[in-house]
Amino acid sequence: MIHNPTIECMSREDMRKLQTERLIQTVKTCYEKVPFYRRKFDEMGLKPEDIQSLDDITKLPFTTKYDLRDEYPFGLNAVPMDQIVRIHASSGTTGKPVVGTYTAKDIENWAEGVARVMAVGDVGPGDVVQVSYGYGLFTGGLGAHDGAGLLGAVQLPTSSGNSEKQVMLMKDFGTTALCCTPSYALHLTEVMAKMGVTKDDLKLRVGFFGAEPWTWGIRRELEEKMGIKAIDIYGLTEMSGPGVGGECQYQDGTHIWEDMFYPEIINPDTLEPVAPGEEGELVFTSLTKEAMPILRYRTRDLTHLIYEPCKCGRTAVRIGKILGRSDDMLIIRGVNVFPSQIESVLSEFTVYTPQYFITVDRRDNEDTFDLDVELREEYFSPNPAKQMPFIKPLYDRLVSVCGIKPNIHILPPGTIERSNGKAKHVNDKRTHLINWK
Ligand code: ADP
Ligand code: ZN
Repeated sequence: MIHNPTIECMSREDMRKLQTERLIQTVKTCYEKVPFYRRKFDEMGLKPEDIQSLDDITKLPFTTKYDLRDEYPFGLNAVPMDQIVRIHASSGTTGKPVVGTYTAKDIENWAEGVARVMAVGDVGPGDVVQVSYGYGLFTGGLGAHDGAGLLGAVQLPTSSGNSEKQVMLMKDFGTTALCCTPSYALHLTEVMAKMGVTKDDLKLRVGFFGAEPWTWGIRRELEEKMGIKAIDIYGLTEMSGPGVGGECQYQDGTHIWEDMFYPEIINPDTLEPVAPGEEGELVFTSLTKEAMPILRYRTRDLTHLIYEPCKCGRTAVRIGKILGRSDDMLIIRGVNVFPSQIESVLSEFTVYTPQYFITVDRRDNEDTFDLDVELREEYFSPNPAKQMPFIKPLYDRLVSVCGIKPNIHILPPGTIERSNGKAKHVNDKRTHLINWK
């Protein structure tokens, strides 16, 4: 089902017209209402009138996570507090969290973005949507909640955690759609197995998984074990939250709701736009946000744009699967390694679970790279000699894909810590080598 065909299937030409109008308005608001942007414009000698077309967007300054932290908490607001109805904040691992503020209209638009994704799974009245994203400052819980509400579905706000109860309710209440991080969904499949609950005991039909990168291996596992279609939902607090875009039933790239978020891909080193279709850093300009409009926000997410028409009929541009954030990238012995590479290699081996944990350290001036993995129940043996045959192929494959040699440790199944929200896959004990400022 297409929730908003007028917008989602609009001709490219009409979409560009709409985006241009909204861009001009957003730039004007930023200049007039947000001292931070006015200062940046003035420093660059830029006037709002200089922006007349979408191509002019490259004249605009970028906004980074550091800007958001510097302007903490409300420095980027374009409206007074009496027009704000909600405040969220992203976890942010260091220092102050990143704040997102919303007017009533912003909340409506946000729900619209989520609803467009959920409509892909035909969510509507009668559907029980179990929202196992965390409720609270994190945008996942309430974002998914409001999207389900807009479609008239039953909102089941379980939040994350208490996994046995999640499975019990899923079964007893006949949950048809599940929303959570893919890593938590994976954990729920393990809990199901422990409780003797199979997909045949459930009415689940579709899952909307996002908030972190995940691979096709994990998708296959979730689809198989839960008997669902697993749909990727993408978003970030700075743009609203989940539902900046999502996959359609063809699962071939994530449609971006371009009437609200204008995407660009830049080369993170030169900051210049890349050639069409090339990989780079995703940058968004909000086109409808009232409380906190943002110009050219550098997401750090690495992907590419796909403009070819999609089989589903939507004309909205797609992004390729996000394989990592530029700030997730590890440099180990001079080689760039993304945790997602490890994840995708692991998914090639049926003997291993998809769980892994990377520890990087530095000893005697050399980086160490330790990788914990788990064998599945059927293959695990406490006798190390019996495990040797499993290590070699994984080791060889990792060396060929990542270009560096890991120290692999095989652990019993269930040992690596499971997460209720975004999974943590890395402990980098070295002082931070990359400075993104
Ligand atoms: P935080 O920065 O604390 O993680 P957010 O919840 O705002 O806070 O996270 C947004 C980020 O989460 C995105 O920029 C992206 O890196 C990641 N993300 C969200 N959805 C997806 C998805 N479907 N696939 C890959 N990464 C995602
Ligand atoms: Zn599509």
